[in-house]
Order: sequence, then C-alpha cells, then structure tokens
Amino acid sequence: MKNKKVAMIGAGYVGAAAAFSIMLDGIADEIVLVDIDTEKAVGEANDIAHGIEGIANTAVYAGDYSDCCGSSIIIITAGRGRKHGESRMDLAVENMKIIRSVTDSLGRYYNGCPVLMISNPVDILTAGAEHWLGQPGGVVFGSGCILDSSRFRRCIARTVFLGDKAAQAGCAESIDAFVIGEHGDAQIPLWSAVTICGKPAEEYCAEHGILWNDNVRQAINTETKNMGSSIIKAKGRTDFGIAVCASRIARAVLSDERYIASVSSTMGTGTEKIRASLSLPSMIGNKGLISRASVSPDAQEMERFEKSSAAMTDMLKKLYGELEKKIL
Ligand code: NAD
Repeated sequence: MKNKKVAMIGAGYVGAAAAFSIMLDGIADEIVLVDIDTEKAVGEANDIAHGIEGIANTAVYAGDYSDCCGSSIIIITAGRGRKHGESRMDLAVENMKIIRSVTDSLGRYYNGCPVLMISNPVDILTAGAEHWLGQPGGVVFGSGCILDSSRFRRCIARTVFLGDKAAQAGCAESIDAFVIGEHGDAQIPLWSAVTICGKPAEEYCAEHGILWNDNVRQAINTETKNMGSSIIKAKGRTDFGIAVCASRIARAVLSDERYIASVSSTMGTGTEKIRASLSLPSMIGNKGLISRASVSPDAQEMERFEKSSAAMTDMLKKLYGELEKKIL
C-alpha cells in the first residue's frame, strides 16, 4: 500500500497545529515539516513526535524540499499574517513572493500531488501556486471558505437550537450551509441553500416557532464574518480552527474520501488564462478537487460571486505585473 506522506511547508503556528492535528487523526504514515527556519521546524517536529507512543503511528520529522518527494499532499502554511492597518495588496505581494520561492524550491521534487494552500490571502495565493506549478485547476486548491462555513453553521445552530452548547454539541451537523466566494470580508453566505434537518431554513423555523427574518440573518452574517477578527483580537492569531480544517481536508485526500467542503479553486471560474480562485462546495479526493458540487445561488448571490471573481482577476493581473518587475 502507498505510503501516505504529508509535506507541511511552513512550521509556524498554523503549520505546527495542522501537523499536530493530522498526527492525532492517525491517517498519515509520515509528516515532514519544511521551514526556512530549520531549527523551528526541528523543534516543532520533535515536540509533536514526543507524545506518548502508540497514540498514532505517524513519523513526524523536519526535512527539506527533497523530502517532499513522494508526498500524497503538500500543505502550504508559509508566509505571514496581515499586520494591523496593512492593505491586502501589500500582504499579497509579500506572501506571493514567498509562494513563488516555495514552488521554485519544490521544483523537481514535486510529483503532481494535491497542494492545499492555507497562507493568506488564501484565494490569491492558490491562484499563484497553480500558475507557478503549472497544474490544472483543482490539483492546487485553498482552504478558502471551509472555516467560514463551519463558523456560519455554528452561528445558525446557536440561533436555531438556542445556545452555545447546542452549537458545540453536534447540532451544527444538522445544518447544511456554506459560505462561498472569497475568504475574508467579501465572503458570501449562501442563504438560498441553507437547510436545517433537511428542510429549508424558513420552513424549519416556521414549524418550530423560531424567529427567522432579515435581521436575524444579518446578525448571523456579521457574527460569522467577525469571528476571525475577534479571535485575533483576543489571542493575536487564529491557528487551531484552521489547523483542524487542514487536517480534515488531508484526511479526505489521503483516504480518497469524496468529502464536500467549500474550498477555493480556479475550477469553474471561467476560461481566461488568469482567473480567480474562489470557494464553492467541492468534492475532495486523492487527486485534490474532483468536481464542484452543484449549488444554485440566487441572482443576488451570483452577482456578488461574479463581482468577487472580476475584482480578484484584476488584482491577480496587477500582482503578476508587480512581481514580474520585482522577482520574475
Ligand atoms: P507564522 O509566522 O507563525 O508562520 C509562518 C512560517 O512560515 C514561519 O515559521 C516562517 O519561517 C515560514 N516561512 C516563511 N517563508 C518561508 C519560505 N520561503 N519557505 C518555508 N517557510 C517559510 O504564521 P502562522 O500564524 O502560522 O500563519 C501562516 C499563514 O496562514 C499566514 O499567511 C496566515 O495569514 C495564514 N492563515 C490562514 C488562515 C485561513 O483561514 N486560510 C487562518 C489562519 C492563518
């Protein structure tokens, strides 16, 4: 049977937490951590590996790009987060340079396996990595709106099933709801497709005497969108939530599970050479994104999706121009 190897590029907060989560899941045979800060990668790998023996049989070690040979999935968490007051474009230019150096370093060690982008701005970097690795849409994909969708379901669960405990006790699993488009402020909650216990949200709430109107939905939108920044305000970053998402996606790839999540890809976002990478519910297996699930956004949601797509395509053109001057 094929050895299931995960290469984690970037061993910062997110990379280390994701490696830890994947190790606990027990699905990978090997996890290699690669970071320009080699000492940090060694420290994180040893810390993860030194738990009580027998919890998982995953070999966790630090390595270099040659150790990415034979990977079943490569996860990229290299790069930094946005500084207070910094524009998205400034962060994008800086992290695109890092992604370019990562894809160059992977070079001949890259075997065409799925590449999951986590670093931000995740949609832009996903498009960049796809461009530089020369892969068709779907092999390189981004965590995109998977975390936003999870937060969206929790917020709905808290409102509908009344309370935090309900949202945490698995009630969110009775809710089918996705956030699509861009990860971040322009995210689009797909209200037209929300179901609760298999019924359209309006119908379920009417049957159970639950208040369900524009104000309720607006409050859920705002809370979903602000959850990331309130965690950053409290602890300076977000790492565990996205790490669990990365681990969930890794499981889908390593076990060819056909798991559906709202993740980012250029698949289905047009036919131009440079095109946006955006999130839609998608099926994930051992080749990366296998297909987009069929969802039917209403006219308003579709308009917002197309607007995001056009804005991101413009930004990508500017970025490639900027980077060509500076590093290509
Ligand atoms: P961090 O600063 O703790 O870690 C980044 C790591 O990348 C560092 O260890 C650094 O040495 C390494 N690195 C930098 N350049 C590199 C290169 N060329 N090759 C290899 N390694 C390199 O940051 P973090 O908190 O782990 O966050 C990492 C990224 O994940 C950020 O861009 C952050 O915005 C993003 N993030 C995304 C989501 C999401 O939902 N997609 C959520 C949280 C964080």
